[in-house]
Amino acid sequence: MKFPDPTSWQLAVAAVAEVTPRMRRIQLTAPALETFAYLPGQDVALGIRRDDGTTVRRRYTIRRFTPEARLLELDVVMHGDGPGMRWASAAAPGLPIDAIAPRGKITVADAEWHLFAGDATAVPGALAMMEALPADVAARAFLRVDDATERQPADLAGDKRISWRYEQTAPAGTADDLIAAVASADLPHGRGHAYLAGEASLVLALKAALLSRGWDADQVSAKAYWNRGRANADRGEPEQRAS
Ligand SMILES: Cc1cc2nc3c(=O)[nH]c(=O)nc-3n(C[C@H](O)[C@H](O)[C@H](O)COP(=O)(O)OP(=O)(O)OC[C@H]3O[C@@H](n4cnc5c(N)ncnc54)[C@H](O)[C@@H]3O)c2cc1C
Repeated sequence: MKFPDPTSWQLAVAAVAEVTPRMRRIQLTAPALETFAYLPGQDVALGIRRDDGTTVRRRYTIRRFTPEARLLELDVVMHGDGPGMRWASAAAPGLPIDAIAPRGKITVADAEWHLFAGDATAVPGALAMMEALPADVAARAFLRVDDATERQPADLAGDKRISWRYEQTAPAGTADDLIAAVASADLPHGRGHAYLAGEASLVLALKAALLSRGWDADQVSAKAYWNRGRANADRGEPEQRAS
């Protein structure tokens, strides 16, 4: 798969809405979107200005792209503090924001069926890719959010199922329920492809669960999105933890 080189986009906020109590949808528009060849799973690296004039990048997956309206939607998990949070909290129609985009090297792979797993930050990408799959291709998603109010509807056709898991009902700080679900769920037959995203240690554990049930590493696209208790680096990626 050939991914396009990212370029600089001057975006503006078109609308802001709450999708769930903890997920804010920010619609962005730009003239550059007229020629954007969207691949589900791609993201944008927003350039967020600090008070001292320096820029920090924060990456958000494109939840939906509507070419005729030149609109892309980002769904941001509202989690506490950080430059991304401050931007999302203050977002209002008309505010400009620049981005390096499109980013990301993960999109729907060539496979007989597809598996998506991760935490709330994985939901936009998982739903975007699931919605892009043909009706006759099966998909399973295992998504861990705070509680049932964080579930989202998705426009899914055919044999596609989402198993929502809730942080509220599990022991604090663990995602064992999600990892166990991925390790032991009945899955469709045939060669699948998995897309794992979210907190770095969760992504590692989910990948290990799939490898231990016999998956090959090349069947798994895994991407750490953030580190618990540690801000992402200025380029928008989680820092590698020293081992
Ligand atoms: C390719 C890619 C795609 C991504 N797509 C999305 C997306 O579609 N939607 C989305 O919401 N996020 C997405 N993320 C994750 C998002 O970029 C990170 O959560 C980022 O850390 C948010 O930046 P911040 O400035 O708010 O917090 P930071 O300054 O990075 O961190 C500040 C503090 O907040 C904590 N923190 C960061 N994120 C979370 C969280 N989600 N929950 C709880 N605590 C957190 C950190 O551990 C740290 O203690 C993506 C990341 C990548 C790399």
